[in-house]
Amino acid sequence: MTEDIRAACVIGWPVEHSRSPLIHNYWIGKYKVAGEYRREAVPPEEFYGFIKEFAARGYVGANVTLPHKERVLDLTVPDERAQAVGAANTLWLDGGVLRSTNTDVEGFLANLDAATPGWDRGLETALVLGAGGAARSVVFSLVARDVANIRVVNRTPERGQALRERFGRQVRPAAWDELGGLMAGAGFLVNATTLGMQGQPPLDIALDDLPPSAVVCDLVYAPLLTGLIRKASERGLRHADGLGMLLHQAVRGFSLWFGVTPEVTPELRALVEADLTKSD
Ligand code: NAP
Repeated sequence: MTEDIRAACVIGWPVEHSRSPLIHNYWIGKYKVAGEYRREAVPPEEFYGFIKEFAARGYVGANVTLPHKERVLDLTVPDERAQAVGAANTLWLDGGVLRSTNTDVEGFLANLDAATPGWDRGLETALVLGAGGAARSVVFSLVARDVANIRVVNRTPERGQALRERFGRQVRPAAWDELGGLMAGAGFLVNATTLGMQGQPPLDIALDDLPPSAVVCDLVYAPLLTGLIRKASERGLRHADGLGMLLHQAVRGFSLWFGVTPEVTPELRALVEADLTKSD
């Protein structure tokens, strides 16, 4: 590697499944950037050492995935957004300082803005399924768009309650058996659980009671066409899928590391779709 090639990577354990190399290497080629993007499989016990030697390894930035997204906050200088969400997924070296941020927030919002324009106009009540790491980014985003009533439906009640404590009184936890009764009053429904993901139980809910103007979003992108997106489509509801979020969340990292703001295009989407379909 010559000195003027900038290198970035995705750090995870496991990391083989990550589509980030496909996305970033596509943009590196498209924008003719002198860059490289690699996978780094780093187990939890080696994460501290890896981050301490980050610059020495020749990296200018990275994505961070499970199980390191929360731990990385203590090992970097997180921005306000990463602190508020309680997790970071993007790192960059800034004059010798290793900074971190959370781009799931802008990925979630940019995907909805692109796929379902106006989705938040006049939106009063949103239903969020799940209260894990991804749900924290979702709730942060909905608060940022001034949604007054955010109902968080989660299996473990304490995690829903923790979201209320973190983000405020507009967040109200609910149990799964309350979901049916909440549908008619919701303008937006998002799945931020792992239900519906390959190898996980299905997300078994009916969308019949959602208003016809409601927008549905699934964060799950493997499989590409989830049961939730299929049902939303069958009911004629506007929807945004997890792949769109994955692509949009990658934009900021690329721009921080390589100095070019890349575009999420149909060609890129088709490339990642083909890869996901191969492994469906
Ligand atoms: P996480 O922190 O492990 O949270 C998992 C959530 O799913 C929790 O709310 C958990 O409920 C719930 N859950 C799991 N199994 C369940 C079951 N059998 N019944 C009911 N609830 C169940 O995971 P995460 O990091 O938030 O990720 C959630 C999903 O978002 C994943 O599919 C991930 O791939 C996706 N994601 C996508 C993007 C994207 O760019 N598209 C970005 C980030 C995440 P409990 O609290 O009760 O355990």
